[in-house]
Amino acid sequence: MARRKKIYEGKAKILYEGPEPGTLVQYFKDDATAFNAEKKAVIEGKGVLNNRLSEFFMTGLQSIGVPTHFIKRLNMREQLVRQVEIIPLEVIVRNFAAGSMAKRLGMEEGAPLPRPIIEFSYKDDKLGDPLVPEEYIIAFGWASQQDLDDIVALALRVNDFMSGVMHGVGIKLVDFKIEIGRIWDNDFHRLVVADEISPDSCRLWDIESGQKLDKDVFRKDLGSLTDAYTEVARRLGVLPSNVTHRPRPTLIN
Ligand code: 5GP
Repeated sequence: MARRKKIYEGKAKILYEGPEPGTLVQYFKDDATAFNAEKKAVIEGKGVLNNRLSEFFMTGLQSIGVPTHFIKRLNMREQLVRQVEIIPLEVIVRNFAAGSMAKRLGMEEGAPLPRPIIEFSYKDDKLGDPLVPEEYIIAFGWASQQDLDDIVALALRVNDFMSGVMHGVGIKLVDFKIEIGRIWDNDFHRLVVADEISPDSCRLWDIESGQKLDKDVFRKDLGSLTDAYTEVARRLGVLPSNVTHRPRPTLIN
Protein backbone atom coordinates (compact mmCIF):
# COMPACT_ATOMS: atom_id res chain seq x y z
CA MET A 1 0.00 0.00 0.00
CA ALA A 2 1.36 3.45 -0.89
CA ARG A 3 2.39 5.61 2.07
CA ARG A 4 0.37 8.77 2.27
CA LYS A 5 2.14 12.05 1.84
CA LYS A 6 2.90 14.10 4.93
CA ILE A 7 2.31 17.79 4.20
CA TYR A 8 3.25 19.28 7.56
CA GLU A 9 4.05 18.19 11.10
CA GLY A 10 3.43 20.59 13.97
CA LYS A 11 3.74 20.23 17.73
CA ALA A 12 0.33 18.59 18.28
CA LYS A 13 -0.88 17.59 14.82
CA ILE A 14 0.20 16.16 11.47
CA LEU A 15 -1.36 17.09 8.13
CA TYR A 16 -1.47 14.46 5.38
CA GLU A 17 -2.62 14.77 1.79
CA GLY A 18 -6.39 14.12 1.65
CA PRO A 19 -8.36 11.78 -0.61
CA GLU A 20 -9.63 14.61 -2.86
CA PRO A 21 -7.81 17.70 -4.17
CA GLY A 22 -8.30 20.58 -1.73
CA THR A 23 -8.62 18.28 1.30
CA LEU A 24 -6.22 17.23 4.04
CA VAL A 25 -6.28 14.65 6.81
CA GLN A 26 -5.55 16.24 10.19
CA TYR A 27 -4.05 13.74 12.68
CA PHE A 28 -4.10 14.60 16.41
CA LYS A 29 -0.95 13.49 18.26
CA ASP A 30 -0.64 12.82 21.99
CA ASP A 31 2.30 15.23 22.25
CA ALA A 32 1.94 18.17 24.60
CA THR A 33 4.29 21.15 24.53
CA ALA A 34 4.40 24.40 26.46
CA PHE A 35 6.59 27.48 26.77
CA ASN A 36 7.49 27.36 23.07
CA ALA A 37 8.28 23.61 23.26
CA GLU A 38 10.71 23.98 26.21
CA LYS A 39 8.42 21.62 28.14
CA LYS A 40 7.36 18.44 26.35
CA ALA A 41 5.48 15.23 27.18
CA VAL A 42 3.44 12.51 25.54
CA ILE A 43 0.02 12.39 27.17
CA GLU A 44 -1.80 9.21 26.30
CA GLY A 45 -5.29 9.85 24.93
CA LYS A 46 -4.94 13.64 24.46
CA GLY A 47 -5.12 13.38 20.66
CA VAL A 48 -8.30 11.31 20.81
CA LEU A 49 -9.99 13.81 23.13
CA ASN A 50 -8.91 16.85 21.11
CA ASN A 51 -10.08 15.24 17.86
CA ARG A 52 -13.55 14.73 19.39
CA LEU A 53 -13.70 18.11 21.09
CA SER A 54 -12.54 20.00 17.99
CA GLU A 55 -15.16 18.14 15.93
CA PHE A 56 -17.81 19.14 18.48
CA PHE A 57 -16.88 22.85 18.44
CA MET A 58 -16.34 23.08 14.67
CA THR A 59 -19.65 21.36 13.79
CA GLY A 60 -21.44 23.53 16.38
CA LEU A 61 -19.97 26.66 14.78
CA GLN A 62 -21.00 25.47 11.32
CA SER A 63 -24.55 24.89 12.58
CA ILE A 64 -24.82 28.61 13.41
CA GLY A 65 -23.29 29.66 10.08
CA VAL A 66 -19.65 30.22 11.09
CA PRO A 67 -17.49 28.76 8.29
CA THR A 68 -14.75 26.32 9.30
CA HIS A 69 -12.30 24.00 7.54
CA PHE A 70 -13.90 20.90 9.13
CA ILE A 71 -15.50 18.31 6.81
CA LYS A 72 -15.87 15.16 8.91
CA ARG A 73 -14.18 13.05 11.54
CA LEU A 74 -12.60 9.95 10.02
CA ASN A 75 -11.59 7.93 13.07
CA MET A 76 -10.38 8.30 16.67
CA ARG A 77 -7.44 10.52 15.77
CA GLU A 78 -8.13 11.93 12.31
CA GLN A 79 -10.46 14.35 10.63
CA LEU A 80 -10.93 15.39 7.02
CA VAL A 81 -10.54 19.14 6.55
CA ARG A 82 -10.47 21.66 3.70
CA GLN A 83 -7.00 22.68 2.63
CA VAL A 84 -6.58 26.36 3.46
CA GLU A 85 -3.88 28.99 3.30
CA ILE A 86 -3.22 29.71 6.96
CA ILE A 87 -2.97 33.41 7.84
CA PRO A 88 0.24 33.56 9.96
CA LEU A 89 -1.55 34.96 13.01
CA GLU A 90 -2.79 33.58 16.30
CA VAL A 91 -6.10 35.30 16.96
CA ILE A 92 -6.61 35.47 20.72
CA VAL A 93 -9.90 36.42 22.35
CA ARG A 94 -9.97 37.23 26.06
CA ASN A 95 -12.97 37.54 28.38
CA PHE A 96 -11.03 37.55 31.66
CA ALA A 97 -7.41 38.53 32.38
CA ALA A 98 -5.05 35.53 32.47
CA GLY A 99 -1.78 34.24 31.08
CA SER A 100 0.39 36.64 29.12
CA MET A 101 -2.09 39.54 29.42
CA ALA A 102 -2.28 39.32 33.22
CA LYS A 103 1.53 39.13 33.37
CA ARG A 104 2.14 41.97 30.92
CA LEU A 105 -0.27 44.37 32.65
CA GLY A 106 0.16 43.16 36.24
CA MET A 107 -3.52 42.19 36.41
CA GLU A 108 -5.08 39.70 38.77
CA GLU A 109 -5.75 36.31 37.07
CA GLY A 110 -9.49 36.04 36.43
CA ALA A 111 -10.26 39.78 36.55
CA PRO A 112 -13.23 40.38 34.21
CA LEU A 113 -12.49 42.53 31.16
CA PRO A 114 -14.84 45.38 30.20
CA ARG A 115 -15.50 43.65 26.85
CA PRO A 116 -13.99 40.79 24.89
CA ILE A 117 -10.50 41.86 23.81
CA ILE A 118 -8.95 40.52 20.62
CA GLU A 119 -5.21 40.46 20.06
CA PHE A 120 -2.95 39.08 17.36
CA SER A 121 0.36 37.22 17.62
CA TYR A 122 2.62 36.57 14.68
CA LYS A 123 2.96 32.78 14.24
CA ASP A 124 6.68 32.14 14.51
CA ASP A 125 8.01 29.62 17.03
CA LYS A 126 11.57 30.92 16.77
CA LEU A 127 10.37 34.38 17.85
CA GLY A 128 7.95 32.98 20.47
CA ASP A 129 4.79 34.13 18.63
CA PRO A 130 5.19 37.87 19.42
CA LEU A 131 2.16 40.10 19.94
CA VAL A 132 1.72 42.38 16.91
CA PRO A 133 -0.40 45.49 16.30
CA GLU A 134 -2.82 45.67 13.34
CA GLU A 135 -0.48 48.21 11.74
CA TYR A 136 2.22 45.50 11.32
CA ILE A 137 -0.26 42.98 9.95
CA ILE A 138 -1.40 45.32 7.20
CA ALA A 139 2.03 46.84 6.47
CA PHE A 140 3.69 43.42 6.13
CA GLY A 141 0.80 42.09 4.01
CA TRP A 142 -0.16 39.19 6.32
CA ALA A 143 -3.81 40.29 6.03
CA SER A 144 -5.70 43.26 4.60
CA GLN A 145 -7.84 45.69 6.60
CA GLN A 146 -10.92 43.95 5.15
CA ASP A 147 -9.54 40.57 6.26
CA LEU A 148 -8.91 41.94 9.75
CA ASP A 149 -12.46 43.29 10.01
CA ASP A 150 -13.77 39.87 8.93
CA ILE A 151 -11.42 38.06 11.35
CA VAL A 152 -12.61 40.19 14.27
CA ALA A 153 -16.26 39.49 13.36
CA LEU A 154 -15.53 35.73 13.10
CA ALA A 155 -13.59 35.68 16.38
CA LEU A 156 -16.43 37.41 18.24
CA ARG A 157 -18.97 34.92 16.86
CA VAL A 158 -16.73 32.04 17.94
CA ASN A 159 -16.43 33.66 21.38
CA ASP A 160 -20.22 34.05 21.78
CA PHE A 161 -20.83 30.45 20.72
CA MET A 162 -18.04 28.93 22.82
CA SER A 163 -18.84 31.06 25.91
CA GLY A 164 -22.51 30.00 25.74
CA VAL A 165 -21.77 26.30 25.22
CA MET A 166 -19.21 26.23 28.02
CA HIS A 167 -21.41 28.24 30.39
CA GLY A 168 -24.15 25.65 29.82
CA VAL A 169 -21.88 22.98 31.34
CA GLY A 170 -20.59 25.09 34.22
CA ILE A 171 -17.33 26.20 32.60
CA LYS A 172 -16.02 29.75 32.19
CA LEU A 173 -14.33 30.51 28.85
CA VAL A 174 -11.47 32.72 30.04
CA ASP A 175 -9.69 33.05 26.68
CA PHE A 176 -8.82 31.10 23.56
CA LYS A 177 -6.74 31.10 20.41
CA ILE A 178 -7.98 30.39 16.90
CA GLU A 179 -6.33 30.33 13.52
CA ILE A 180 -7.93 31.54 10.32
CA GLY A 181 -7.46 30.17 6.82
CA ARG A 182 -8.19 31.45 3.34
CA ILE A 183 -9.99 29.31 0.77
CA TRP A 184 -9.38 30.61 -2.73
CA ASP A 185 -12.01 30.61 -5.47
CA ASN A 186 -10.26 32.09 -8.53
CA ASP A 187 -9.32 35.64 -7.52
CA PHE A 188 -11.54 35.71 -4.44
CA HIS A 189 -11.03 34.17 -1.05
CA ARG A 190 -13.18 33.52 1.96
CA LEU A 191 -12.05 33.17 5.53
CA VAL A 192 -12.75 30.11 7.66
CA VAL A 193 -11.87 28.97 11.18
CA ALA A 194 -9.06 26.41 10.75
CA ASP A 195 -6.59 24.36 12.85
CA GLU A 196 -8.35 23.12 16.01
CA ILE A 197 -10.49 24.33 18.88
CA SER A 198 -9.76 22.27 21.99
CA PRO A 199 -8.64 22.63 25.62
CA ASP A 200 -5.10 22.90 24.19
CA SER A 201 -5.96 26.34 22.85
CA CYS A 202 -8.48 27.64 25.43
CA ARG A 203 -8.48 28.53 29.12
CA LEU A 204 -11.42 26.78 30.74
CA TRP A 205 -12.21 27.18 34.45
CA ASP A 206 -14.91 25.40 36.40
CA ILE A 207 -17.39 28.13 37.36
CA GLU A 208 -17.96 26.84 40.90
CA SER A 209 -14.49 25.78 42.00
CA GLY A 210 -12.23 27.70 39.61
CA GLN A 211 -10.49 24.39 38.76
CA LYS A 212 -8.48 24.61 35.54
CA LEU A 213 -9.63 22.20 32.80
CA ASP A 214 -7.20 23.17 30.02
CA LYS A 215 -3.55 23.06 29.00
CA ASP A 216 -2.52 25.17 32.02
CA VAL A 217 -2.85 21.86 33.96
CA PHE A 218 0.20 20.70 31.97
CA ARG A 219 1.95 24.10 31.85
CA LYS A 220 1.70 24.50 35.64
CA ASP A 221 1.86 20.81 36.74
CA LEU A 222 -1.62 20.90 38.27
CA GLY A 223 -2.47 17.21 37.84
CA SER A 224 -3.64 14.93 35.05
CA LEU A 225 -4.25 16.66 31.73
CA THR A 226 -6.29 13.73 30.37
CA ASP A 227 -8.53 13.83 33.46
CA ALA A 228 -9.15 17.56 32.86
CA TYR A 229 -9.92 17.11 29.12
CA THR A 230 -12.03 14.02 29.84
CA GLU A 231 -14.09 16.10 32.29
CA VAL A 232 -14.71 18.76 29.58
CA ALA A 233 -15.68 16.03 27.07
CA ARG A 234 -17.91 14.29 29.63
CA ARG A 235 -19.79 17.50 30.48
CA LEU A 236 -20.30 18.26 26.78
CA GLY A 237 -21.51 14.69 26.15
CA VAL A 238 -18.79 13.98 23.60
CA LEU A 239 -16.76 11.41 25.47
CA PRO A 240 -15.53 8.82 22.97
CA SER A 241 -16.88 5.35 23.63
CA ASN A 242 -13.44 3.78 23.93
CA VAL A 243 -11.08 6.42 25.28
CA THR A 244 -7.48 5.24 25.29
CA HIS A 245 -6.98 6.82 28.71
CA ARG A 246 -7.70 4.21 31.34
CA PRO A 247 -6.58 4.15 34.94
CA ARG A 248 -3.33 2.21 35.11
CA PRO A 249 -3.22 -0.90 37.31
CA THR A 250 -1.84 -0.10 40.74
CA LEU A 251 0.68 -2.40 42.35
CA ILE A 252 -0.54 -3.44 45.80
CA ASN A 253 2.20 -4.65 48.11
P1 5GP B 1 -1.57 33.62 26.51
O1 5GP B 1 -1.21 34.72 25.53
O2 5GP B 1 -2.23 34.16 27.74
O3 5GP B 1 -0.41 32.73 26.79
O4 5GP B 1 -2.64 32.68 25.76
C1 5GP B 1 -3.95 33.14 25.48
C2 5GP B 1 -4.80 31.96 25.00
O5 5GP B 1 -4.35 31.53 23.72
C3 5GP B 1 -4.72 30.73 25.91
O6 5GP B 1 -5.99 30.11 25.92
C4 5GP B 1 -3.69 29.83 25.24
O7 5GP B 1 -3.96 28.46 25.48
C5 5GP B 1 -3.90 30.18 23.76
N1 5GP B 1 -2.63 30.14 23.04
C6 5GP B 1 -1.70 31.13 22.90
N2 5GP B 1 -0.64 30.72 22.17
C7 5GP B 1 -0.90 29.45 21.83
C8 5GP B 1 -0.17 28.47 21.04
O8 5GP B 1 0.92 28.70 20.52
N3 5GP B 1 -0.76 27.25 20.93
C9 5GP B 1 -1.97 26.95 21.50
N4 5GP B 1 -2.49 25.71 21.34
N5 5GP B 1 -2.68 27.85 22.21
C10 5GP B 1 -2.15 29.08 22.37
